[in-house]
Amino acid sequence: MHKIEKVTLPNVKHIIAIASGKGGVGKSTVAANLALTFAQSGYKTALVDADLYSPSIPILFGLENQHLLIEQRGEKHVMIPFEKNKIKLMSVGFLVNPEQALIWRGPMASSALLQLFSETDWGEIDYMVVDLPPGTGDIPLTLCQQVDIDGVIIVTTPQKLSFADVQKAITMFKNPDINKPVLGIVENMSWFTPLEHPDEKYFLFGKGGGQYLAKKFNSELLLQIPLIQDLCDASDRGFLSDFSKRPEILSIYNELIRKISSKFN
Ligand code: ADP
Repeated sequence: MHKIEKVTLPNVKHIIAIASGKGGVGKSTVAANLALTFAQSGYKTALVDADLYSPSIPILFGLENQHLLIEQRGEKHVMIPFEKNKIKLMSVGFLVNPEQALIWRGPMASSALLQLFSETDWGEIDYMVVDLPPGTGDIPLTLCQQVDIDGVIIVTTPQKLSFADVQKAITMFKNPDINKPVLGIVENMSWFTPLEHPDEKYFLFGKGGGQYLAKKFNSELLLQIPLIQDLCDASDRGFLSDFSKRPEILSIYNELIRKISSKFN
């Protein structure tokens, strides 16, 4: 096998990828909330949307249809990330229309993705959170092989139906040729508690999935996140950052960053 060239980011201390088996489990929401909480805790934070075919970061941060500033520095072009809520944000959605990215073949998509990392002026970053596309395709593979990811967090729902895909994803990260530490599992949409019945929990998507996966892969169930009323609406309207300041959401994600940062000390 030929040697794969790596993208090096010497000013970025830790790179954490957020992955999932299937789409729609809340991977982008978790990535964005995690970045918001890192930034609110005083860490220099970046968020990279590597979900080329359905970039959600521009929507979640109310930056749809915005285009990046590209500066010419000597011989080189350098992309300047958007900065919002103290997070440096990068998404292929800032460069091309999603329809355009859809017709890219694997190698073109991979090279566009790598440019997001290597040709951006990041400055100093403590935590870079990367929102990977779901599954085990070209893009997560390229990224793992060419970018120095410190660890991966797997997002899943408790539902058994999504397990086959999650297990494939975990197996890919653990493959000796990829060898990215799985930092743990986040179970999203674990239960629903109606506002008017705060003592009740309804397990709409089943129960115990995150724990089962953690045990099977000798990993840790980092967190269970309930279904949160109004989250969809806040996300669609680009207000996720305001929403993430609600005490119950802050305390969920503070717990997650406490667990993640303890793994790096
Ligand atoms: P993915 O990145 O896995 O495709 P998203 O983060 O886009 O998933 O989430 C899918 C949908 O579910 C979005 O509409 C999002 O607002 C919603 N969602 C995610 N997590 C939760 C949650 N804990 N409670 C309520 N809605 C959620």
